[in-house]
Parts: sequence; C-alpha cells; structure tokens
Amino acid sequence: ASGSEENDVVVIGGGPGGYVAAIKAAQLGLKTTCIEKRGALGGTCLNVGCIPSKALLHSSHMYHEAQHSFANHGVKFSSVEIDLPAMMAQKDKAVSNLTRGIEGLFKKNKVSYVKGYGKLISPFEVSVETPDGGNTVVKGKHIIIATGSDVKSLPGITIDEKRIVSSTGALALTEIPKKLVVIGAGYIGLEMGSVWGRLGSEITVVEFAADIVPTMDGEIRKQFQRSLEKQGMKFMLKTKVVGVDSSADGVKLTLEPAAGGDQTILEADVVLVSAGRSPYTGGLGLDKIGVETDKIGRILVNERFSTNVPGVYAIGDVIPGPMLAHKAEEDGVACVEFIAGKTGHVDYDKVPGVVYTHPEVASVGKTEEQVKALGVEYRVGKFPFIANSRAKAIDNAEGLVKILAEKETDKILGVHIMAPNAGELIHEAVIALQYDAASEDIARVCHAHPTMSEAVKEAAMATYDKPIHI
Ligand code: FAD
Repeated sequence: ASGSEENDVVVIGGGPGGYVAAIKAAQLGLKTTCIEKRGALGGTCLNVGCIPSKALLHSSHMYHEAQHSFANHGVKFSSVEIDLPAMMAQKDKAVSNLTRGIEGLFKKNKVSYVKGYGKLISPFEVSVETPDGGNTVVKGKHIIIATGSDVKSLPGITIDEKRIVSSTGALALTEIPKKLVVIGAGYIGLEMGSVWGRLGSEITVVEFAADIVPTMDGEIRKQFQRSLEKQGMKFMLKTKVVGVDSSADGVKLTLEPAAGGDQTILEADVVLVSAGRSPYTGGLGLDKIGVETDKIGRILVNERFSTNVPGVYAIGDVIPGPMLAHKAEEDGVACVEFIAGKTGHVDYDKVPGVVYTHPEVASVGKTEEQVKALGVEYRVGKFPFIANSRAKAIDNAEGLVKILAEKETDKILGVHIMAPNAGELIHEAVIALQYDAASEDIARVCHAHPTMSEAVKEAAMATYDKPIHI
C-alpha cells in the first residue's frame, strides 16, 4: 500500500533509531513507512545486540551465583548444571517477543512496514528489493537513513561465526569453548567474555591500547579491571594480533607487543573479534544522490539531523556520536520533531553509558581525565558500597560512586558508578546533569533507606562536605 502513495516520512532501517523515529512521526500525524531488510524489527540492538546479550548476561550470572554465592546465603544445592540450549532458547524467546512487539506498535500507530533492502534512487525515492525477489519504489517527502552499524573485522582475520566469531556468533555458540580469546577490550568484548567466563571458558582479552574501555574514568577503570581479573579474566594489553590461523583443532593467534618486539602464540578454541563497529551504508546509494560522509563512512548531519541533501536525514549509529541504542532513539525523536516543524535536541555529553558486567559500570558526563584536561578546578566525592547498608545486607558490596563537581559552583560535571545495578542507579545523576544540578542538590534530596541509591547521596555529600557513613 505504501509503495504507490507518497509518504511524509520514509525511514530506512528498523533499529532503535529507525523504528522509534517511525512511531514518533506517525504519532505526530505524519504518514510514515519504515523499510527493514532483516526480516525482523528492532535492528542490531534487539536481534543481535543489547537484548540477547543482556539475556545471556542474566542467565550466566544466575548460574555463577548458584555456584558461588547461594551457599553464603544458606541456599544449598547438591549440584548445578548448565543447559545451554535452554539458556539460548530463553534468549531467543525474549528477542522474538520483543521484535513482534514492535510490529504490534507499528500497527497500533499506523506505520507501514516494508520488508526489503532499501536503496536511494533520488532524494525522495527509495527502491526496495523485496524478499520475494520483487522491487517496489517507496516515495517520501522526507527520508531518514537509520541503517545503523555492522561488525568491523580486522585486517587478515576472516569471521566465520564458528571459530572466529563476531558478537553475533558469540551470542549463539552451541558449545562452551574451553579457551575463548577476545580481541578488543571494549564493552561488547567484556560483556561477552563475562558470559562465557561464567559458564566455564578460560577468557583472555587481547587489546592494542594500554587500557580497557577507553571512555571510562581512569580510577573506576582500574577497580573494574581488578574485579574482572578476580573473576578469572586475563588481560593482554598493549598487544597486537598480527596473525590468526584457524584449523579443525582450534585457532592460533600470533601476537606482538604493540610497540614491536618478539612474537608469541596464543591458542584458543574460539576467537571473538570485538574491535568496533562501522557505519552500515553499503548498497544504500549515497553517492548516487551525493550524501556526504566522513573518513570512516559516517553520514554527516547538522543539528537538525539533516544531511547535505535537502529532505534526507540520518540518525543513530550511522552518524557520529556514541554508538548506543538510547542515543539512536533520542536522535530519532528529535529528527522527526524537526521534520514536523517542532524543535528537538540531543545532548551527546549527557548520554549515559553502561557496561553490563558484574559489577556494572555506568557513567554520565565527564571523566576525571576530561575535567583535568579542561583545566576546570574540581572536587571529587566518593562513596564505597562497602559502607552502604543495602549492599552489605545482600552481600554485594563491590564498587563505588564517584562524583566530580566544579569547585567554585559545586555544579556536577560527571558521575561514575561501579555497582551490581549501576545501570539503574545512574539515572538520578543523568537527571541532575540535565538540570545543571549541584552535588548539594542531590545530597539534600531524601533517599529511601536501605537502598544502593543512598551511596549516590553520600558521594554527593562527600563532594562539598562530609558523608555520614564513612
Ligand atoms: P541498528 O540497530 O544497527 O539498526 C539498523 C537497521 O537497519 C538494521 O536492522 C539493518 O538490517 C537495517 N538496514 C541497514 N541497511 C538497510 C537497507 N539498505 N535497507 C533496509 N534496512 C537496512 N547499545 C546500548 O545502548 N546498550 C547495550 O547494552 C548495547 N549492547 C550491545 C551489544 C552488542 C553485542 C552489540 C553488537 C551492540 C550493542 N549496543 C548496545 C549498540 C546498539 O545495538 C546500537 O547502538 C543500536 O542498535 C543502533 O541503532 P540504529 O537504529 O542506529 O541501528
């Protein structure tokens, strides 16, 4: 139906950027069509990213707790086993329920959904190769490119998704590897390494840079790395992978110090390549209509998410900015608000980031290194969970809250939390930052007792005064 009539908005890509933009556009009264090639909505995030990884992180954490923590709480089993197919089935169920949920939301909001590969043939026409081999042209006054990102391999490494896997293969292994080598110590590598480490794999993380998760506050990062090491994860930092040799017996990686030097061999049953993601623009026809990209292929947009071609917009992982699902969603809403004649705004400095390991690490705003580099005089308030009553009550007291505030005004500049549920705790700080709050504003808000959130309040007190419980 959508093929012949003209739309107000056509969205290419049904990930968190695209599907949210499509729903919001329809809610604003715009006639909208969303084109997706995958056969399911939800994009990378729902199908092979955020959601399946969190499902496996939760399941593997339960197994790990059953083995290592339950007895401390007086809960004893005679034996605990892993049923990997059942674990994978629970993950798949979560994914398929959610993708179907988005189809339901499209129907509810009257968004037309076209399955197929979209290609721009003009600034207002998208030619779609449909799964049945046909072709249809979808027209729109405004076209939003929301094609996201794809796995980036490394030179000389071929991903076969069996022995040498991307995150997609690592979410669907059919056996628990004895030795798993993770190339790249970003959050995806550490999350997937945690999953398989908890299920019994020996994990070695090889990273070219000197540090894990480069965007993390340095002090938090040190504690985080120690925590992962205590869990059995091994790190080989400042190390370059120069060759990968895969055979029926396993994989041999040739490594070299990043600064050059003697080569060593590391053996693995499975290698996970998690060295970043690239914008997905292949076959999209960008050159045909003259859409500008940067050196690494990201589509350039202005503050209204408009490309250099009038009527063509881009959002999410395919444009510069944090490559995160919630950022893509915010882009989507703001972009459509501009199209509808309203205003929208996304502040990339206030997008929270979470690593969903155990403990989790969540942050928003500036790291201490960034504050120092700005030359701003600042204060640091910290509170460890070891002094938090709820964390002690549940025997899960690793980690801390760290708040950075401007010395003169007490304005919050950045908040970093390492805790089991840091990804939930961080939002109080996100709101504070968004409202330009001072740390005293948080400290003077009554927090329920006993909660882990009280550690945020106490860290805020420690920023300009003294905390009570330490
Ligand atoms: P995508 O989700 O990549 O969606 C783009 C869609 O466009 C895809 O479905 C693709 O099939 C489709 N498409 C592409 N080209 C065409 C075309 N020509 N025609 C039709 N359709 C097309 N982010 C978080 O915030 N939290 C997390 O916990 C998290 N965990 C992650 C874990 C893993 C393992 C991975 C890989 C990523 C994770 N991410 C996470 C990142 C997150 O998935 C992305 O930031 C997010 O999906 C970006 O959304 P998007 O809509 O821009 O693109």
